[in-house]
Amino acid sequence: MGQDLRKDRRPRSAGAGAEPALPPPAETAAAGETASLPAGVTPSMAQFLEIKAANPDCMLFYRMGDFYELFFEDAVAAAEALGIVLTKRGKHLGDDIPMCGVPVHRADEYLQRLITKGFRVAVCEQMEDPAEARKRGSKAVVHRDVVRLVTPGTLTEESLLDAKARNYLTALFKGPHGGGKATIALASLDISTGEFEVGDIPANDFPGEIVRLSPGEVIAADGFLADADLRKWIEIAGAPATPVPAAHFDSLAGERQLKAQLGVADLAAFGSFSRPELAAVGALLKYVELTQIGKKPCLRPPRRSGPSAHLVIDAPTRSSLELLRSTSGDKSSSLLAAIDRTVTGAGARELAARLASPLRDAVAIGDRLDAVGFLHESETLREDVRRALRHTPDLARALSRLALQRGTPRDLGAIRDGLAAAQSCARLLRSGGDGIGLPAALDDICARLAGCDEGLQPLLARALVDDPPHLRREGNFVRPGFSKDLDDTRALRDQSRQVMATLEAGYAQETGIKALKVRHNNILGYYIEVPAGASKPMLSSPLSDTFRHRQTMAGATRFTTQELAEIESRIVSAADRALATEQDIFAELATVIATEERVLAATAAALAELDCVTALAEVAVEQRYVRPLLDDSTTFDIRGGRHTVVEQALKGANAGAFIENDCVLVTSRPEVPTGFDEMTEARLWLVTGPNMAGKSTFLRQNALIIVLAQMGSFVPALSAHIGIVDRLFSRVGAADDLARGRSTFMVEMVETAGILNQATSRSLVILDEIGRGTATFDGLSIAWAVVEHLHEVNACRALFATHYHELTALAGRLPQVANVTMDVREWREEIVFLHKVKAGAADRSYGIQVAKLAGLPKPVTKRAAEVLALLEKSDGKAGDRAALLHELPLFAAARPRSHIPAESDPSPAEEALAAVNPDELAPKAALEILYKLKDLARKERR
Ligand code: ADP
Repeated sequence: MGQDLRKDRRPRSAGAGAEPALPPPAETAAAGETASLPAGVTPSMAQFLEIKAANPDCMLFYRMGDFYELFFEDAVAAAEALGIVLTKRGKHLGDDIPMCGVPVHRADEYLQRLITKGFRVAVCEQMEDPAEARKRGSKAVVHRDVVRLVTPGTLTEESLLDAKARNYLTALFKGPHGGGKATIALASLDISTGEFEVGDIPANDFPGEIVRLSPGEVIAADGFLADADLRKWIEIAGAPATPVPAAHFDSLAGERQLKAQLGVADLAAFGSFSRPELAAVGALLKYVELTQIGKKPCLRPPRRSGPSAHLVIDAPTRSSLELLRSTSGDKSSSLLAAIDRTVTGAGARELAARLASPLRDAVAIGDRLDAVGFLHESETLREDVRRALRHTPDLARALSRLALQRGTPRDLGAIRDGLAAAQSCARLLRSGGDGIGLPAALDDICARLAGCDEGLQPLLARALVDDPPHLRREGNFVRPGFSKDLDDTRALRDQSRQVMATLEAGYAQETGIKALKVRHNNILGYYIEVPAGASKPMLSSPLSDTFRHRQTMAGATRFTTQELAEIESRIVSAADRALATEQDIFAELATVIATEERVLAATAAALAELDCVTALAEVAVEQRYVRPLLDDSTTFDIRGGRHTVVEQALKGANAGAFIENDCVLVTSRPEVPTGFDEMTEARLWLVTGPNMAGKSTFLRQNALIIVLAQMGSFVPALSAHIGIVDRLFSRVGAADDLARGRSTFMVEMVETAGILNQATSRSLVILDEIGRGTATFDGLSIAWAVVEHLHEVNACRALFATHYHELTALAGRLPQVANVTMDVREWREEIVFLHKVKAGAADRSYGIQVAKLAGLPKPVTKRAAEVLALLEKSDGKAGDRAALLHELPLFAAARPRSHIPAESDPSPAEEALAAVNPDELAPKAALEILYKLKDLARKERR
């Protein structure tokens, strides 16, 4: 059973029933209005049908009084999607009209559920007071219009958005092929903050780019979406795709609109835009205009994206490195979660954006690192800034809602408090930089924090109550003392209430009815109520001359008087005037804010950046990160590197310390010795070692250090020197992708092909167990050829973990390949992982020891050891191997007893123990038994 939302309905007519104020399908037409309508269609129905027809791909939320009603197929779909009751109302062309509704005050919640389920919603409001409509005739239809289309990529409400995540609407446009390679232009806008990004990328890079942007919604022309491969990547990025007419991708219109929105005559200040980029911008802004019904969002200056600006990380690498979420989709075990020490939603969004898009320009990275470094040094400043930022409201989102005329008094309050926080942060930074000067990035943040007109914050502080309410239409957000006019009207309103109490006392005395009360409800307004039993004298003269009967209820009778009606009208008009004055004040404040919009957006961005760099400084101190050195060399010299996610997890679980490891591909510091001094020129390390020894962890930690360094963060290492990486690749062999219908091996090969085709000499590649998904010799041969290709053709830096020991021979043949291995020790036939990387190759794979650790039954591991011993004797010759295996007695060696013992069978030691009765034993006998038991146990372990 669904929930009947109609119970939330407040009565709106004199009758006890809860009728909607203006039921469109059932409304009857005023005389003369039906002339041009088909038979049986009322004007209100015609209005509904017309609005619905204009928005065919949306569910129509049709405002009727305190409810949004849905009709026809929308009602059926919404009732099912929301689990609410489907009712019917009136008839259309002889059939019942299905209907359901949601109360206006809970609309956000239902909108969110519909949007998550992939619906688009057109919100249709009453554009006039029903009282206005009634002036045109008692049956006149209230004027209604769609004020907004709600789609996943155009949300602005706090309750519909994740405070810590950006919500991009991304327009995609395939550029003309021309002679060169295919390119795709992308324009992305988060209308909830004004963040705006434009770029042109090679079509090959599309998967990584769309996953990086992670849009809330994608728009593209039908032709684009018809490409199954592109569509698949949009789906993987989790974005619903909305087709828009190809004609919307008009670069001239895009250029014109962009200039108009940014308020410039020439776009040169923002860089040069290609025609495809402007076409994407054109479609984007057109879609915003259509969904926001002409209201303009605030647009920040566009940021340029693309391969030259950013470290390119393709889609499989993003997922395998678990940057923003783990491969299972969980956010808490991602790199982002491990480094996120931000204290505001805006700061968290900035951090996530930086992590998703590390930079390539050493100077820009250096600027960011300077800012982090400055805050890293000064504990007091860092703590003061974090304290000032904590509880700072989301300035950018409040500003956007106000720009789209969807702002609330709470949004005004957010601007007041956001500005106050910005001013105190600016003061803190200035005094923190006293004498020593601030690094450029912080100086710039500081200027933007203090950039807003100085009068605005005090104005908002004077105008607004401390904690402004969410709803604008109910007033009560202007602080007493701000407007004399408002104070006077409010006094009149409140004074009249006082008068009402006096009136009640007077009437009680006049009638002698102590229980007489003056009450109020929405339908009758003010009335006098007496218990039914006491009402008699009031119904006859002389009292009936004053008291006019209005309503008889079960237990009470209601009256009014001339005087009461007059006072009521004074109260109502005072309250109405107070409300209207507050609305005017809201509008004035919103206008002042609008004139400062651009500066305020810059202030909001500065607050987000400050939170982000302070958080990076905080995590650097807390987790002992160091400042990396970045330049244009091809060095990769990490000393004492750590995997920050694994390290923090080990710490959290009290599971021991993380072991630091060096990774020195092309050293910059030959004078500082490492365990790898023989191989300082190697660019490609082959990493061998048993499963569980820490190979994957080692590989990934180095990739993560690159991401962290190039996003402008300190890194988990003792020192790090990194020649800037242009493209980062990470592949893990044998990853399951059955859901996508490709065999594991096929996926692995497709992805490996991507690397071999794209890695440059500035790239860094990590490959983990490539070639595993096929027969041994196939796999080995492919892995072999891949290493050769990486070495000879790509000439990139690479870490290659493999279980093919045969590959280690390559180190002797290729000058820039070296072997390293994860150190392990054997201790009493057990394997102990030291998690330390050392020069050389693993001598064997210790698979059986690892299987033992994993709890494989003892007879199985024993038997496996025997088979292995025989295989090793064969020295790799297939013919010998077959013959030997043939000789291997079936189960014989593994079966010392007459049957293979089940885990529950008692061991000899247990049997011996069961035969002992401790109460009968002399101390000496007991000691002997103890020796015997120890001996038995030792034999068993073997
Ligand atoms: P492999 O890839 O060799 O199978 P993993 O990298 O998956 O091994 O590591 C297995 C486990 O060993 C990890 O989950 C982690 O708990 C632990 N580990 C790996 N590297 C280290 C290290 N450097 N210090 C401490 N523990 C580590």
